[in-house]
Amino acid sequence: MILPGEFLATSEESVGGQGTFEEEGKLFAAVEGKQVADNRARSVSVATPTVVRPLAAGDYAYALVHDLYESVALMEFEPVSRKGERIASHNNYAYLRISEIQRGYTEHFRDFLRIGDVVKARVKEITSLGIYLTIADSELGVVKSHCARCKAELEPRGRVMVCPACGNKEQRKMAAGQHF
Ligand SMILES: [Zn+2]
Repeated sequence: MILPGEFLATSEESVGGQGTFEEEGKLFAAVEGKQVADNRARSVSVATPTVVRPLAAGDYAYALVHDLYESVALMEFEPVSRKGERIASHNNYAYLRISEIQRGYTEHFRDFLRIGDVVKARVKEITSLGIYLTIADSELGVVKSHCARCKAELEPRGRVMVCPACGNKEQRKMAAGQHF
């Protein structure tokens, strides 16, 4: 571990990269981290360690629909970490209430979600009963799904999902726009 202010190399030997500063022909660490030397580029930098933090409401996640019940879906999820951080979760299963599928009333899950779909979701709340996700916002929803007839991957076409293999049309709560 390198500490801020520690001498790394002379600026004749190396070019200072991220996490370094130069003073009077010498390169020093600007941050605490691990020294990374690239001999070919003749550069030296200091990589800051990954910050580990607990999962929190508002975090994004990719989630697989594991099971669908009357009013709640069981999801297996993976939080989306930003650069330089890692999100730790004590459990990778979460619930999606039918009220969090879209704004307004939803009668049946199967009109919007099927087992095996992958969704882009956001953590709505974390309670003692479990982690709850939402896909109600327009940028959230199904990003990957398979044809119920032939298992080929469905492609979004307008407001429906179409199977390129057999032409089957299915409905999903689709995620609008770019995936993160
Ligand atoms: Zn098909």
